[in-house]
Amino acid sequence: MGLIESEGIVLRSYNLAEADKIVVCLTRTAGVVRTVARGARRLKSRFGAGLEPFTIIALTYYEKEGRELVSLRQAEIIRSFFDLAGSAENVAALAYMSELVMEFAPPHEPNEKLFRMVRAVVEALANTPGDLSALVRYFEVWTLKLAGFLPDMISCMGCAKKLGEASPIYLNAEFKARCPQCSNRLGKEFSEAGHKQLRSAQRLSPSEFAKTARAVSDGTMNELADLSQGLIRRVLERQPRSHMSLL
Ligand SMILES: [Zn+2]
Repeated sequence: MGLIESEGIVLRSYNLAEADKIVVCLTRTAGVVRTVARGARRLKSRFGAGLEPFTIIALTYYEKEGRELVSLRQAEIIRSFFDLAGSAENVAALAYMSELVMEFAPPHEPNEKLFRMVRAVVEALANTPGDLSALVRYFEVWTLKLAGFLPDMISCMGCAKKLGEASPIYLNAEFKARCPQCSNRLGKEFSEAGHKQLRSAQRLSPSEFAKTARAVSDGTMNELADLSQGLIRRVLERQPRSHMSLL
């Protein structure tokens, strides 16, 4: 309670009344926090350009017991990504990624790994905008993994044999993975190449993953997209609002 300082990433902002904004931030120390930025829409606002989506800021906010909305006092820019806003594709992808964070990260629960992942993906996108779709794939896999919704696809649910190195795997309606023998090749096939990309996403940094993605076929990356987006729909019980087909 009281005055809190943290590093944060602006996820989204909404207009509130005449001069204010509600700004949703993913903070390093308190997870997703909804703040009210008084006067943020005035021409000479103390927040300046610090509330643009995906700006990394040093924020100071005041928290009152029992109130979900906190009051934003300061937002100093650590790094801004104005260039990204110049492309409609980037803007749509960032809106999609911020929606995933807001859906999957419970409010006020710090998650250092999630914070670092979001930051690393946005930085990688700023460095190599051509890797947009691979970076969104990376983001989907990690959002699911950190929220505990990425199924274990390391061994077969039937016989415990190691999966995915020499043959495709088969997923049932609950995304449980089986080897060709145990599944009788029934269910959704997920290729060795798709499985390899899934493993790479969990092992590599966003930019390293994007490099590996350049060397695999669109079909393989689509398989990964289908898998992650199928899991996301299953968890949310609907399509994300900002869902877009990026490939
Ligand atoms: Zn098996």
